[in-house]
This record gives sequence, structure tokens and C-alpha cells, in this order.
Amino acid sequence: MTIVGIDDTDSRTLGMCTTYLGAELAGLLRDAGAPVERTLLVRLNPAVEHKTRGNAAVAVHCDIEPATAHEIVDEVLDRAATGDDQTSPGAVVADCSPDGAPEPVAQFAVDAIQTHHELADARTLIEEVGYRSATRAGGRGRIGALAAVGAWTAFDEWTYECISYRERGRWGSERAVDHGSVFAAAEAGYPTVWDTVDRVEETAVCVPRTPCPILHGIRGDDPDAVRSVAEQIESEAVADRHLFVTNQGTDAHLQPGTIETVHEGHSYRLTATVATEPETREGGHVFLDLEDGGEQLQAAAFEPTKRFRDRVRGLRVGDQITACGEVSDGTLKLEKFALRERVDTERVTPDCPDCGRSMKSVGANAGYRCRDCATSAPGKVEQPVERTLELGWYEVPPVARRHIAKPLVRGGFDALIHPER
Ligand code: ZN
Repeated sequence: MTIVGIDDTDSRTLGMCTTYLGAELAGLLRDAGAPVERTLLVRLNPAVEHKTRGNAAVAVHCDIEPATAHEIVDEVLDRAATGDDQTSPGAVVADCSPDGAPEPVAQFAVDAIQTHHELADARTLIEEVGYRSATRAGGRGRIGALAAVGAWTAFDEWTYECISYRERGRWGSERAVDHGSVFAAAEAGYPTVWDTVDRVEETAVCVPRTPCPILHGIRGDDPDAVRSVAEQIESEAVADRHLFVTNQGTDAHLQPGTIETVHEGHSYRLTATVATEPETREGGHVFLDLEDGGEQLQAAAFEPTKRFRDRVRGLRVGDQITACGEVSDGTLKLEKFALRERVDTERVTPDCPDCGRSMKSVGANAGYRCRDCATSAPGKVEQPVERTLELGWYEVPPVARRHIAKPLVRGGFDALIHPER
């Protein structure tokens, strides 16, 4: 078997995207007589600088001579929009089975998704393992291409996306998609098919707004189900449809962490105590501080996360949570959190048992008295707090979901879930 990886072929200005070229590559390999086993769409660390739109790389698993695959992918790179100076395409051809990538290549994939690589890391490793590569405009895409090669060996959890492409003459123009049919198809496919729409924001999340060739992308846990939803959507003509196996919706970017050890540009799952009351600041962003072992970290739910901010505002000082998100500018950008232990009482000044009015403090540690009734109390009393937030996992809505973040509805979480749809 041969794995052909490509990356960094997106162009903001010229409307090209890596998934489109990946689909074209798979088609050309098939035309050359190579049975294509699958096309992998791998989302890399969403925080990484120089990222292309969506930070996606593609790997095609097929049965072809590596030299032939190299000729074909080299030709495909010519179709990448190299006129865009932010685009730096690269391809890697690996002579190995998809689940048999060498350990350093598998680790490279994990690091590309969870941490960060320099181009030199990719060049060195490609040389060491003896893979062929092809480049244009600096070939920065070799990083993602090599990561895509190692991904199938490195990870076990995969989902599907059925991407429908537009006719070339329509690229850049407004998409003609019947929203009623999108919402009906989304409803029919849920929960196997997820993040098709955001019902509260009334947004067709599956339809991109960029000038890329994608008409819509339908994501889910089952290849037949995503294709079926795609087919139910009424729209302008579909030029081509391609099924990708992806790491979208898997949380592959999250690593276990502690507040003390977090790094900028990495994403974590960490447990902490809420240290300050959530505060809504200018622009509608909600901030709070988390604490663990004497260390504090600011966390935030930004305005685009919409109704998720209400869940974050529902937190109180003392709550124990597991928080997930990327650390950027010293702030944990919340994607989801689990409320583990909830503060259900607060200590308040006691009321007089006779007249019901609030008692007054007699002095430091001297307790409380009612001046009118001469009743007294030794100190503050516990009183239940009204809490609206239940224990369990909360998440950003589909409209704010990162490609790689796992929707709660997919299951496998360690507490009750409160999925957004
Ligand atoms: Zn009284």
C-alpha cells in the first residue's frame, strides 16, 4: 500500500481548498488504476500559526507504485493556488500500509495535532524514513502531509464527512442551498449525523461562507448516514461528492493538563476550581479565573460561542469543573466544560428568629445580634443557593464548534451530557 499526503493548498483569495485537491487526487489515482481504500481528512492543531483555512491535511490510502503516485501528486500540486503568497503546498508519498507507519511518523502526527512542528522537523523525518515528497512555494505543507501519513497509525477514533462540491463556474458566488431541506435532512440524520445546523441560531453550519469549492459538508458517525443527509439537501447542481474519513469531532487536539503546566497554543482538558465569579466584559465575552494547586488561569467564553456563555455565567466560585480548550494569550478559550461538584450553599448573615430582620455583627468573631429582640447567633449560617446549572458536560453550540472538537451527542463522556444542537 501507498499513502499520499498533501497539505497547505488552501487559498483565501483564489478559492482553492485542500479537501478539493484531496478529492481530485483520489480521483486521479483511481483513474491510474489504483484502488483507493479511503481518503483521510486530518485536522491539525487548530492553534498553530501559519495555519491554512481549517488547518486540514489529506491522505489517500491506495494501492499504487510510489513512483507513479509521486508523479500524480506532483501534477496535483500544480493545481494548488500558488499565486496566493500564503499558500505553500507540500506532498509526501509513503511506501507503507496505512496502519503500519513507523513510530516516529505516527508520533509526528500526534504532535502536529496537539502541539507544533517546524518545517525542518518534517524535512528531517521525511529524509530519515525515505519518503518521496513534492513541494511548491517553500513546501510548508510537508508538515501536514507527513502528519496525515502517520495519522491512521496514531489514532483510533474516526468520523465521516460527505463533502459536496460546486460546479467550477459558480465558485465565489452565493450558494443556492434550500435551507428548509437542510434543516429537515439534519433532523432526519440526528444524532448519527451532527453539526449540520444550529437550530437556535437558525444557521446551516454545513454550508461554508468562504469562496471555496465546497457546497456543503455533512459530518457524522456513519458513512451511509452522512451521504444520505447530503443527498436529501436541495441545492444548485452538485459537481462531485466525496466521502472523507476524518478526525473531526474527536477531541484529538486535547491533551490532559494542569494549570501549572499549560503551554501557549496547545489545547487541554484540565480540572480546576472556579476562583472568580464569571464576568461579562465589553463585546459580550465572559471571563473567569480557574485555580488549581495555588496556580490561576484565566478562562473565557467569547461572544461567538453564543448561548454557551449563559452556561459559563451559571458557574460560581468554588465549583469544581473540568475545562477544555486552547490556551491562547494566557487564556483558556473554553470549548466545553463539565461541572463536577457544585456549590449549593453559601454562608450568610443570619436573620433574627423573632422578627425576621437581618442581624448585625457584634464585632470580629463575636457573632451577630438583633438589636430589637436581643436574640443572638454565633456566626454566619449556611443557606441554600439557587443553582440553574446541573452537573455534567456543557459545550459550545454547533455554530461555534471547531472542526476537531467532539460534540457531546457523540457520547463517551464521563458524566451526564447537555448537548447543543
Ligand atoms: Zn429581631
